Amino acid sequence: MARYTGPSCKLCRRENVKLYLKGERCYKEKCSLETKPYAPGQHGKTPKKISDYGVQLREKQKVKRLYGVLEAQFRRYFEKATRAEGITGEILIQLLERRLDNVVYRAGFAGSRKEARQVVRHNHVTVNGRKVNIPSYSVKPGEVVQIVEGSRKNPRIVESVETSDGRGVPEWLTLNKAAFQADVARMPERSDITYDIQESLIVELYSK
Ligand code: SF4
Repeated sequence: MARYTGPSCKLCRRENVKLYLKGERCYKEKCSLETKPYAPGQHGKTPKKISDYGVQLREKQKVKRLYGVLEAQFRRYFEKATRAEGITGEILIQLLERRLDNVVYRAGFAGSRKEARQVVRHNHVTVNGRKVNIPSYSVKPGEVVQIVEGSRKNPRIVESVETSDGRGVPEWLTLNKAAFQADVARMPERSDITYDIQESLIVELYSK
């Protein structure tokens, strides 16, 4: 599966918003967006006028980068959302939230979504007791996401669990920290996602 392998902080600086792609560093003063609060590149400091299309495009790029999804897959999520019953933009965000790598991150088993993807890929995660190594796996209410027993002493995972308290766990997940387990209590709702996302801009962009 293709994925972005370039510098993470440049993506935040491009979108001018914290995307939390680097774990602990994102919460510290050395966050690149705080030390260099302007777009990357030679003309990064030059203010630019941005069209309506540009605003919509940037919002789409921001959300794509936040969840670590590439264009083709993001587009597939959007198409799936348009076919589902309900508000397209909200369903799009719900589909992204339900990704297994996002759940691993949200539960605090990884410092970032990028790290969560590795945790999933490297067979550290089970869903309902069966190993699942597909980061895009879409969780459902009633499912149980857990770190496999042999990985519960993995220093990266232990460190993430110990340092993730400040991030909080969304209400649609029930965390049992001692058992490295997160139960999917219900579907994520729009109000569960507190990050600043204007999904209507993405719908407008793709509906052109
Ligand atoms: Fe973004 Fe984190 Fe880098 Fe800050 S440290 S610019 S939030 S990836």
